[in-house]
This record gives sequence, C-alpha cells and structure tokens, in this order.
Amino acid sequence: MTAASVSAMGSPAADDRAARVDLAAAFRWFARLGMHESVANHLSVAIAADGSRFLINPRGRHFSRIAAGDLLLLDANDPATLSRENAPDPTAWYLHARLHARLPGARCVMHLHSKYATALACLADPTLYPIDMNTMRFFGRVALDSGFSGMALSDSEGDRVADLMGEGQSESQEEGNGKSVLLLANHGVLVIGSSVAAAFDEMYYFERAAETLLTCYATGKPLRIVADDIAALTERQWRDYGQLAIDHLENIKAILDLEEPAYRR
Ligand SMILES: [Zn+2]
Repeated sequence: MTAASVSAMGSPAADDRAARVDLAAAFRWFARLGMHESVANHLSVAIAADGSRFLINPRGRHFSRIAAGDLLLLDANDPATLSRENAPDPTAWYLHARLHARLPGARCVMHLHSKYATALACLADPTLYPIDMNTMRFFGRVALDSGFSGMALSDSEGDRVADLMGEGQSESQEEGNGKSVLLLANHGVLVIGSSVAAAFDEMYYFERAAETLLTCYATGKPLRIVADDIAALTERQWRDYGQLAIDHLENIKAILDLEEPAYRR
C-alpha cells in the first residue's frame, strides 16, 4: 500500500478498487441469502496498513442496493466523523473504527444479525458443538461476548469488543488459528478475516454451521458430538483450504457480473 493510494478521502485510488468491488459483492450476496437485517448491519475493510482508514457501507442503504462506489472511506482517528454530512450509522462507526484501529491484522470486519447465528447467540448455552465439518471448522475459533447492554453507542463498546477479539490475536492470526468469530449474546455475530474473501467465507460457513446445530436441536434427539482431537484436526484441515474462500467470492462475483453488474459501479 503506497501513501498515494490512501491519500484522497472519498476519491478512491486504484488500490482501493478491488476491496470496494469485493465488499460490494459480499453485501449483495448476503442480501440474496437473507442474512441482512432491514437496512442495518455493517461490513468494513481496512485500506490503510495500520487499519486507520477503512471502507464501510453508507447509512440506511439496503445491502441489495450497495455498489462499490457507494462505500464510505473513513478515518478511524477522525473524531468529527459522525458530525459530517453522509456520516455512517453510529453503531457501525463505534464498532468498526475501534476494531480496525486496535486490530490492524483484522483487515475485514463483518457484523450481521443473520437468522441462525443470532438464534444460537440467544441460547443459554451457545456453544457451537462439533457435530459436522462446518461446526468443526470453528472449533476453538469462537469467542463469546456475554455482556449485552443495549446498542453499541460509544467508543468503549468498540474497545470492549476489540479486547474480546484481540486476546492473542497478533501472534495467532499470523498462524491462522486465532479467534475469528465473536458471538454476541442476545444480539448477533461478528467475524474478522485477513481479506474480504476470508471474512465472507467465514461468515457464510458460521451461519451454515449454526443452522445445522439448531436443526439438530429441533429434532429433540441427542447430538452426536465428536471428540476434541477430531474436531481440532478438522479445524486445522480447514485452514489448508484457504483457496476455497478466494474461489467462493470469485464465483459470487462472476454470478453478479452476469445478473446484477451494477454492484461494481
Ligand atoms: Zn448489531
């Protein structure tokens, strides 16, 4: 990342372009999957190496209508952000600005109230038990925020979430085995990733994993939980499939290019 590529707030340089297109594709696809919530929820991606500048969705725009050029380029260290014209949603600002500033390795941050992840977050025991390959992917990767205290409307909330995600993050993210998911009790889910493709894939699979577990619960039958060593092995094996996340998003973009190419605008 060169200095020139991050110099112009609101007028993205060429280096920002790929991140904008990737994030716009993620918005559109989450809308297709019904994982959005009205015109709320937020996805962001860091542009500056230190996480100080990041792209995020504009306030009040339905995920299905977001295009690459609509994304706001914000400065995490600018205290006047919320008083500017075209300010982002305050809950998005407080959460994402602090996360990007505190965890520069978390290039992409996604927060949704998707159906199954949220339902899991509302259980007294929200453990994602290892019962199939998708649930095993998240073995040891999920942190729990059990401190819901209303909507996040201050920097302290973003810092609290950054603390929960940041424990051991700097070393473990390098190795790829840090916590990638924060289940927000009584609220929803937050995922971090090293790229838009990585975070998108992680969010997709977490929702699928939660869906499978809750479908099992709905049968009323006992779960068939695998041993910890098998779950840990499977989680490691998933990490060798990094190309899967890239291919996943590339295929999503290819479908959108055919069916709704305006997302690239
Ligand atoms: Zn939320």
